[in-house]
Order: sequence, then C-alpha cells, then structure tokens
Amino acid sequence: MNLDKLSEILKNEPKFRYAQINKALFQDYISVWSEASSLPKILREQLTAECPLEIKAQIFKTAGGRKSEKALITLTDGEIIETVLIRQRGEKTEKAETVEKSTGRNTICVSSQAGCPLGCAFCATGMNGFSRNLTAEEITEQVIFWARRLKAEGKGEKIDNIVFMGMGEPFLNYAEFIKAVKFLNNPETMNIGARRLSVSTVGLTEGIKRLAGEKIQINLAISLHAPNDSLRRELIPVAKKYPLREIFQAVDNYISRTGRRVMFEYLMIKGVNDSDKNALELAELIKNPLYMVNLIPYNATGKFKPSERERIDAFKKILEKENVPTTVRLSFGTEIAAACGQLRGKRKGYV
Ligand code: SAH
Ligand code: SF4
Repeated sequence: MNLDKLSEILKNEPKFRYAQINKALFQDYISVWSEASSLPKILREQLTAECPLEIKAQIFKTAGGRKSEKALITLTDGEIIETVLIRQRGEKTEKAETVEKSTGRNTICVSSQAGCPLGCAFCATGMNGFSRNLTAEEITEQVIFWARRLKAEGKGEKIDNIVFMGMGEPFLNYAEFIKAVKFLNNPETMNIGARRLSVSTVGLTEGIKRLAGEKIQINLAISLHAPNDSLRRELIPVAKKYPLREIFQAVDNYISRTGRRVMFEYLMIKGVNDSDKNALELAELIKNPLYMVNLIPYNATGKFKPSERERIDAFKKILEKENVPTTVRLSFGTEIAAACGQLRGKRKGYV
C-alpha cells in the first residue's frame, strides 16, 4: 500500500473522501478497492490501477486448533519480513467444546527492521544480518495484513494486542516506530488503545528516554536476559555500550515520568543464565514494585539449548520468594518457529 500515492490521488477530491477511505482501509479492512462501496466507481477504478492494496505474503501455520500463525511478507523491494499472529487460548468455559466463537486473545507481533544489526548470540534475526529499517507504513501493513485475515475468517475476532517484538530493534528505527505507533493509535485510522501496544528493546537508553517523553504511553519491555554485565556482554554485543546501571536509570526515569510498570524479559537458556545464583542476582536488580519479570522459554536456534521446564519453575520460585512478580511466557508457536527471525532464516526447505 502506498499512502503517499493515495494522498496524491485524493488531492482533488472533497475532504469527506478521507474519512470514507480511512474507514474502508482501517476499519472495514478491505483488500480490494471494489469493496469500498461508498466511493464512486471511477475513483475505485483509478485506485485499483494506481494504488493496489495487495500485501504479498506467505502464511505458515500449525495443524488444527487455535494456534499461532506466522507470515513472511515480501516488501516492494523484495525484502522479506516476519510477522506473527498469536492466538492465545481463552479460559475454558463449560460450553467450550460446542461454542465456535473463541474467548481467546489475538496478539500481533510486528517487525521494525528487516534483520537486525545487533547480532545477539541467541537470536536468529541477529545471526542473519541486517538489511534496512522499515517505514512506518511497512510496520502498520503487518497489522493490516492480520486484521484482514481475521475479518475474512468471519468469526468476529479482533486484534487485542500489538507487540513490537518481531525482527529488529525498534529504537534503532525510532522515528518510523513512533510514527507507526501513532498511526495505530489514531482514532481516525486504526484506533488501537495505547495500553494494547507494547515495545521491546534490548536496552537502548536513548530510546527509553525518548519514549518517556512521548504523550502516548505504550507498554515498555526490556530484554535483559542476564543478571550481570559480563554475562550480558557475552550474549548481547551492544550491552558493552549500555551497562545495566544506565539501563535501570533510564527505566526509573521512565517510571517516574509515566507511572507505568516495566517488564523485564529473561530468556531461559540451559546452563548459561538459568542457575539458582543467576536467579538471586536477578532478584537483586528487580527492586522497584513497578518492575516485573517475564521468563521466556528459549527456542533453540543455534548453539544454545532451552532450560528444562523444572529449571524454569525452580528459577521462578526463587524470584517469587524474593518478592519479584514473575510470569512465564507461554511457549507459543515453537512448531512454526515463532520467535524472532527464525522462520525467515529457515525458510529454505521449511514446510
Ligand atoms: N530487538 C528487540 C525487539 C525484538 S524482541 C529486543 O531484543 O528486545 C524479540 C524478542 O524475542 C526478545 O525478547 C528476544 O530476546 C526474543 N528472542 C530472540 N531469540 C529468541 C529465541 N530463540 N527464543 C525465544 N525468544 C527469542
Ligand atoms: Fe536484534 Fe533483539 Fe535479536 Fe538482539 S534479540 S539481535 S536486538 S532483534
């Protein structure tokens, strides 16, 4: 979709066309202009010829049930990016077997860059190199893609959350990232509440500071993954530039300006960062009542192995004993390699 081209075409149209087109594109999620019945036929034909709505994508999904789906979207220059629709199961109700309509939640995970230049040792995206930043339009297009898919299913399902946890580091592409956030949040376009938007950063303090100054308050998550600087530097090369002390300072400033909770993500990697000692060290860092920890079961992508389930439980127990609010992320979609950059890396010979 080319929004600049669209504005150019609409230049000589009456003002109310914008509202009609916003509704058609971002609320009714049309995928061809012929569906925009409020527009005159001649305009629909011109838009079809000059401003096509097609999003080129290939979908990967697991068999049966309410599972995650992943799409590889091909951008106009041939770059390929990943986006995931995570269909979390809802609470089981007594009628669950008979009711088609799901009570689950739909979370969309979007990429902010094609690849990532930061090369974290555990991350498939980081291992596959960096091509370029995405534009705000390419970021929002990922959401529109899934919104169209949910609409086509006809079950009345909506997007509940959007997380910037796909390929890339959003704060290395701050301007386009925040432009996309504002577009998604705008009541005239996508109208997705700020509380339903989350960004994850590997700890770039400049970005944390800029986000603290924004009027729009989305959720912030920090990829910590290690409880001390020396282990962190082994896993995350850019940690050399951003010591934990500075990250926590930036987070505290963010909390004092926004009053929001901050999530610390911690990948559980077998024999690397998952010992009892690591848990105690982590608990030492997580002192603010507005901090919380999310333990993420690792998806094996290379030299590392995931921690066993029992180890994750034991690690969680230690944190909780130290009064650290801790959750364990559901291991969604491992079958479709639904973590950061894995599918794009594997796509030769996959499925
Ligand atoms: N660059 C940002 C945003 C990407 S988020 C960041 O790193 O926070 C991607 C999330 O997926 C991060 O929390 C990252 O640590 C996690 N991740 C990367 N590789 C993974 C893997 N193999 N298994 C599970 N999670 C992974
Ligand atoms: Fe980039 Fe995040 Fe992957 Fe590190 S974990 S390489 S910062 S996408």
